[in-house]
Amino acid sequence: MFELTDRAVLVTGGSKGIGRGIASVFARAGAHVAIAARSAGDLDEAVGMLDALGPGKVLGVPTDISDRGSCDEMAAAAVEAFGGLDVLCANAGIFPEASLATMTPEQLAEVLDVNVKGTFFAVQACMDALIASGTGRVVLTSSITGPITGYPGWTHYGASKSAQLGFMRTAAIELAPHGITVNAILPGNILTEGLAEMGEDYLAGMASAIPAGALGTPEDIGHLAAFLATREAGYITGQAVAVDGGQVLPESPDAVRP
Ligand code: NAP
Repeated sequence: MFELTDRAVLVTGGSKGIGRGIASVFARAGAHVAIAARSAGDLDEAVGMLDALGPGKVLGVPTDISDRGSCDEMAAAAVEAFGGLDVLCANAGIFPEASLATMTPEQLAEVLDVNVKGTFFAVQACMDALIASGTGRVVLTSSITGPITGYPGWTHYGASKSAQLGFMRTAAIELAPHGITVNAILPGNILTEGLAEMGEDYLAGMASAIPAGALGTPEDIGHLAAFLATREAGYITGQAVAVDGGQVLPESPDAVRP
């Protein structure tokens, strides 16, 4: 029913973490998958892993999504390799910690450049190809942090993740006449390579605050991205869906029982 074998997909930030999980789900489903990130070494490693997962083509495209020209080259490379583009997963993002009291203008600009401008640039660069697809799909990786919750040290990040939702709602209207949907996934705490390095005690503490009793996996995000990318999801647009094991639901820590 949900056929992805002939879909051409581009995942920004697809070399690591959640993006690699999203790319893995698409590759297993038989889609052609391009991944974009700055580090060529990480891209090569991820391409090797993804290649083994399915019959589709896999491509790594060195890209800085905070640069519009680089995004244009990224989109052109995917279109050239696959003959078109059906799905953009605008997932790349950064989350450096900085308190409001000491945050410099440069620290603020860096987060907004990558997370907000990078979302705009990636979508703008891919727009013509997504229009040509006829069933184009944009899936943004936002976060529960900002749109739903807050966390000290991440005011700039939370603002950037909320900004993605403001972008989404109007982009969804502008692109609807072209058959393109624009939706956002709000991950909770997802067990990426970076987080795994924090140690078992830290991870156990985080898991205890989640009703589902465990952190999510990058593939948990990929499964929703894959559904939103299908032709069958064409009537869903402008929506933000939390994938967080119920993390935002408890009124207090007492509400989460083992
Ligand atoms: P990650 O493991 O650090 O991976 C980030 C990816 O984005 C890497 O591939 C990185 O590659 C790429 N990237 C960063 N800056 C880039 C730039 N300027 N241009 C192109 N690529 C860039 O992060 P993650 O945890 O998977 O997070 C991915 C997304 O999920 C982010 O948007 C984040 O806000 C969101 N999120 C994560 C969590 C979580 O629990 N992990 C929760 C909620 C939301 P290079 O460094 O080589 O460029």
